[in-house]
Amino acid sequence: MIEIRNLSKSYGKLEVLKNINLSINEKEVVVLIGASGSGKSTLLRCLNYLEVAQSGEIIIDSDKIDIAKTDLNKVREKVGMVFQHFNLFPHKTVIENIIEAPIYVRKKSKSEASAKAMELLKKVGLEDKANFYPEQLSGGQKQRVAIARALAMEPKVMLFDEPTSALDPELVGEVLQVMKDLANDGMTMVIVTHEMGFAKEVADRVIMLADGNIIEEGHPSDIFSNPKHERTQRFLNQIL
Ligand code: ADP
Ligand code: MG
Repeated sequence: MIEIRNLSKSYGKLEVLKNINLSINEKEVVVLIGASGSGKSTLLRCLNYLEVAQSGEIIIDSDKIDIAKTDLNKVREKVGMVFQHFNLFPHKTVIENIIEAPIYVRKKSKSEASAKAMELLKKVGLEDKANFYPEQLSGGQKQRVAIARALAMEPKVMLFDEPTSALDPELVGEVLQVMKDLANDGMTMVIVTHEMGFAKEVADRVIMLADGNIIEEGHPSDIFSNPKHERTQRFLNQIL
């Protein structure tokens, strides 16, 4: 589903991603770990073309992305992204937030987009909040709306960048549960998270980034019980 070849990204002189190679299969759930500043967000942002890499190739769902020729909106339609801060439109209701892109980008009718939005709200357990405004919701509810909004574009891949880091601890579980359901439905997912219990339970593969390199990867049971790289050991000791 995703093929990254020789991807390098710098900001000025700072090399943030150094020749990353990574293949992710359809329906695979990959958890990215690594210290702050190791390049996790940059990698996700390159996958969604929020950042443009200096060199390398990204192929998503068989389409090679040539930045000069490709309509980036088409690429972004394939890749849903959920951020730490939910980025909902504050002056729009929950359902208006969800139907915005399907109507204006996908050119769906309002009734079709609304029906789909209600289906998604049901999936994330918020069908009774369709006409609420974001400020009337808890952080966990806002994040579930953000997930529904991303799903409304029917992406092939979902990227999550620390989706629960800004939440009060008691709200983390409801968001992780929605992500778990998505994984069980067969969504291809790349997730940056420090929730190692979730990673153990849901991830097919854990990838450790350090200084813009993939230094270790493997099944969560291997990585967590028997990390090979000294930096992985140190990182896990700090967060577990
Ligand atoms: P992580 O998500 O793993 O914490 P990031 O991908 O956000 O790491 O950042 C990796 C490195 O790139 C950091 O040193 C960060 O300061 C730098 N960086 C990220 N975004 C930018 C930017 N827009 N301009 C300059 N430097 C950036
Ligand atoms: Mg980050």
